[in-house]
Amino acid sequence: MQAKDQVICLRAVNFSETSQVVTLLTREHGKVAAIAKGSRRAKNTFDGPIEIFSRGEVVFIAKESGGLAALTEFNQQPHFRGLSQNLDMLNAALFAAELTEHFLEEHDPHPPLFDKFLIFLETIQEARQEDQILAWLILYQLRLLEETGIGPMLDACTNCSISIHKNRAGIARPAIYFSSSQNGLLCSACEAAFVEKRAVDFAMIDVLKNPARLPKAGTKNLTEIERLLIYHFTELLGKPPRMAKYFSETPQIIL
Ligand SMILES: [Zn+2]
Repeated sequence: MQAKDQVICLRAVNFSETSQVVTLLTREHGKVAAIAKGSRRAKNTFDGPIEIFSRGEVVFIAKESGGLAALTEFNQQPHFRGLSQNLDMLNAALFAAELTEHFLEEHDPHPPLFDKFLIFLETIQEARQEDQILAWLILYQLRLLEETGIGPMLDACTNCSISIHKNRAGIARPAIYFSSSQNGLLCSACEAAFVEKRAVDFAMIDVLKNPARLPKAGTKNLTEIERLLIYHFTELLGKPPRMAKYFSETPQIIL
């Protein structure tokens, strides 16, 4: 089956002297692994070797039996130049690409996620401070969880459903916890029954519930939120994401 689609390259590895195997995020066909025969030759039909974050229109032939598709055309658009000039931006983009590859199944299309990934790559290049890069990364990570149907529950305790909201000023706030296996919050009355959990600050959850506040959340909150997300991704994947080390110290797991 031949298909034409918009893509962003999530990974490109050399396969032979002349070819590459690429993992593509396509808009209409989901994640596609493909072989690009001859892409490393001086003259090729792909506008040069395919690099991570290459984007544009492709034509590929999907195998009926599964396995690698064959890439036949790649009309590459200009690269995201900012990513090659700023290491923080590049690391954030690599982290987003790694997670996207992990959480998407092959040939399971999520057009809104494709659009959001494209906007994320375009927007982080406009960031003026490290905080802004982190805010955009967090926003994309939240969108990825939502779009793949595993957005965490942040309004109520996942065990007893009691509403978890901001207390009035001056009233001591009971501790709240986040549990990956529960995919959301645990109230102080329920937390003791769960081994896998991490104490969280309400201010952090408040920002997570209102992502429009991310750009002004401040370094401390953004760092804490990213640590929480890294903790969550580590639990979901069964190991820390490769790029996590650039965004967090080892998360502390509170038992
Ligand atoms: Zn509860």
